[in-house]
Amino acid sequence: MALHEKDKIRAELMDDIYASSDLSSSLPKYKMPKEECPPRDAYQLIHDELMMDGNSRQNLATFCQTWVDEEIHKLMDECIDKNMIDKDEYPQTTEIECRCVHLLADLWNAPEAENTIGCSTTGSSEAAMLGGMAMKWQWRDRMKKQGKPTDKPNMICGPVQICWHKFARYWDIELREIPMAKDRLIMSPEEVIKRCDENTIGVVPTLGVCFTGQYEPVEAVCKALDKLEKDTGLNIPVHVDGASGGFLAPFCDPKLKWDFRLPRVKSINASGHKFGLAPLGVGWIVWRDKNELPKDLVFSVNYMGGDLPTFALNFSRPGGQIVAQYYNLIRLGREGYRKIHEACYATAKFLGEQIDKLGPFETIYNGQGGIPALCWKIKDGVNPGFTLFDLTDRLRSRGWQVPAYSMPTHREDLVVQRVLVRHGTSYDIATLLLKDIKRCLEYFKDNPVTKPLPESYGGYKHS
Ligand SMILES: *Cc1c(COP(=O)(O)O)cnc(C)c1O
Repeated sequence: MALHEKDKIRAELMDDIYASSDLSSSLPKYKMPKEECPPRDAYQLIHDELMMDGNSRQNLATFCQTWVDEEIHKLMDECIDKNMIDKDEYPQTTEIECRCVHLLADLWNAPEAENTIGCSTTGSSEAAMLGGMAMKWQWRDRMKKQGKPTDKPNMICGPVQICWHKFARYWDIELREIPMAKDRLIMSPEEVIKRCDENTIGVVPTLGVCFTGQYEPVEAVCKALDKLEKDTGLNIPVHVDGASGGFLAPFCDPKLKWDFRLPRVKSINASGHKFGLAPLGVGWIVWRDKNELPKDLVFSVNYMGGDLPTFALNFSRPGGQIVAQYYNLIRLGREGYRKIHEACYATAKFLGEQIDKLGPFETIYNGQGGIPALCWKIKDGVNPGFTLFDLTDRLRSRGWQVPAYSMPTHREDLVVQRVLVRHGTSYDIATLLLKDIKRCLEYFKDNPVTKPLPESYGGYKHS
């Protein structure tokens, strides 16, 4: 090798990363590059681009985990090669998944936790799809037995998460979503019963409605459905969307009856990656007993030479999240989960009180009777010189992501701003947020964005 070439290679190796030729142009966006690039440079380029994403810890919009233990990082790394569908190759990961299902069935008071059936999913969306399908199949069987048509299934719910809209559309089901009315922002037993008929595949109350954080009254709805059955013979099952609440109520509200203690509750879904405290990519569904899951939805996979029943939409899926879920369940125990969530409830309550004191706002939910979150609106008849959308924008300048949105059907007039208080949203972080909200209020005082209200106008409306 000629000496000058040696020098060139040496110089390249010694170059500071930002002095290297790979970093002298921008990353390819439409065509795969022809040549390779050193991993160090590729890593740095992508790492730097990811800075443009918001800081997840300041993302107060998401319900999902943004903080996990060191040990979870380690386990996730150790499990990077584990495909949870390969039950035969990774029998211990399979065993851990089964244990999680049993622990959750027990947590949700399944009558026979050790005989229950359930599985992990990628999140509550997939779990909702599975729960919904089971209900549709069961309903169809019931109708066929009676010689009745099966072409017009419907499902009843309150203001649901988008996954139920998907379920309804993908599976041709009429979604009877109970609209909000005045101060009733969730379902009520009366509104459910009004919509029931023999084509109702099931009722889906949400434990922790996304829009406000409130729990829907599962027990009261079940009681109303019991009465309906007594009066009319219609026997309508309930699936609880416990995406958030499924990992909250058992620890912080153990007396609340929302789970398998209510015989009408046939299945429950929850997001492991929300208040289950696992990293992104895991959800759960559990049926109260095997009979609730129609046989023809179940496939069997080879498991150590035997057959293991599976029910899922995905095939290959990472096993790490499931392992991390198990880690959390055994590391924290009921008491650990309770302490973490109680700290969040306390922070939500504190934030709510402080936000009420600021003047223009009125909290409409502060974490009592639902998930650790709070949401507020601008007081009726007050024009502070900005909208909540403006405040969202302004808070973004300090990195906070605090969403503002209008409510769904019939309460589109109600605009709220919402903060999720999750594992890692400490009291200290909450006080920093408050300080920045105050800073924004000062700013808007000097730089109002909205026009003053006309004299004649009683209530404040956002355009
Ligand atoms: C988040 C959420 C879902 C969807 O869950 P993923 O885990 O994000 O798929 C469904 N229902 C409710 C009530 C939720 O909060």
